[in-house]
Amino acid sequence: MTRFDLLLVGGRVVDPLNGLDERVDLGIADGKIKAVKSGIDPRTADKVIGLAGKTIIPGVIDSHMHAERVGYRMMAKVGVVTGVDFSERMDIICENVRSHGSGMNVATLTNVRAYDTAPGTRVDRREIERIVKRAVEDGALGVKITGGHNQFTPDTTGKIIEIANQHRSYVAFHVGTTATSSNLPGLKEAIELAGDNHLHVAHVNSYLRGLTRDPIEESLEGLNALSGKRNIVSESYLAIINGTGGKCTRGIPDSGVTRNCLRLRKYPETQKGLEKAILEGFAMVQVEVGGECVLVSGQEGVRLWKDSKTDIGISFPVNVPASTFLCATRKDKSGRFIVDGISTDGGSIPRNVSVTSGLALVRYGALTFEEFVRKVTVNPAKMYGMLSKGHLGEGADADITVLDLERGEAVMAIAKGKLIMINGVVVGEGGTIVTTKAGAKSVENAGLKTDIVDLEESTFFHK
Ligand SMILES: [Zn+2]
Repeated sequence: MTRFDLLLVGGRVVDPLNGLDERVDLGIADGKIKAVKSGIDPRTADKVIGLAGKTIIPGVIDSHMHAERVGYRMMAKVGVVTGVDFSERMDIICENVRSHGSGMNVATLTNVRAYDTAPGTRVDRREIERIVKRAVEDGALGVKITGGHNQFTPDTTGKIIEIANQHRSYVAFHVGTTATSSNLPGLKEAIELAGDNHLHVAHVNSYLRGLTRDPIEESLEGLNALSGKRNIVSESYLAIINGTGGKCTRGIPDSGVTRNCLRLRKYPETQKGLEKAILEGFAMVQVEVGGECVLVSGQEGVRLWKDSKTDIGISFPVNVPASTFLCATRKDKSGRFIVDGISTDGGSIPRNVSVTSGLALVRYGALTFEEFVRKVTVNPAKMYGMLSKGHLGEGADADITVLDLERGEAVMAIAKGKLIMINGVVVGEGGTIVTTKAGAKSVENAGLKTDIVDLEESTFFHK
């Protein structure tokens, strides 16, 4: 008889990929789902958890986040089991996962600028090839282009997309080049620069904040431009606050996004303008308090920003609810979601709301519960070729998020068969790195467990 390490009994299991929505028990052993049926004998398990009245879904996957150190706990706390980090170098990720991972699964896209070998607006082909190869060998799934904050020329941006595709590695783009910005024209340019190449367009909602005209018109036009593009995958987030940098050089904010935010509320696009925005509460400084990140404005915010010589994270309440709503819910003519996933772009920024705000959309009637599950776990899993995630069939990873639909939040998270969060208390430690065959050795050398994915099985390459 099969012996289980963990048995979950009495919960409603919703697993769209396997067409399951009923009360069944889940038997877990060796980090995998081993049995999905009702009436499993509790004596066959070392540990039994009763989940009557609760809803069990495949572990939530945040398809775009920035964990730094504190973000893992902040994500696990709200039921996220797997996250894809969009910035750091793999050696930093490995160190942070070991010390702060909270038991999560973590994949990475390395910022093209992370190795400090591409500081300018142009990078030559050989250097791009070196960066892409190094990122993948270090254990990342591919690279991320931070266009909007710190632009490359259109030519260099196009080359990065092309070279990543030639190497069959993942490439995500925060849109914007020296010719555009982090806005609707930038989004359209990104689609053009991709051509027939595969591309992940990051946080679609953030280009549709009304910088060029009415944000609803912008949203409809931007989503229309993305509609039917089978070579492009994308996500959007639901939070009102964004995340950017406060660093200023010679009196001007470095980040194009920060300057855009100031412009939106008619503040001068200068260090003085940013100071006024922090003082008046429009800009909020990200500060670590008690192992989590919180937002501070007013005089205290200005002091913290100045103490860090302006080099500190900043958030502005600039996302338009109507835009985030349209990005999360809009479908094309064939009934497919135009934007594949709901992400957070959070982690260490306090806006990990894909579950709470996603469930609010369900209560509102804008998404069915099954669609919510598709957007927060099924589609993100497919996007990155994580075939053993995003569903709860026998043999799948025992990655599970348990929801209390009355409270509208996650109450338990399980990663690879181990409890990582119970009622908002994070109990997981360390973590697993989701990588490709090419990066496994380097991650194992760093002393971390790996989950191997093959991007040829992803919707990134085959949508
Ligand atoms: Zn991001």
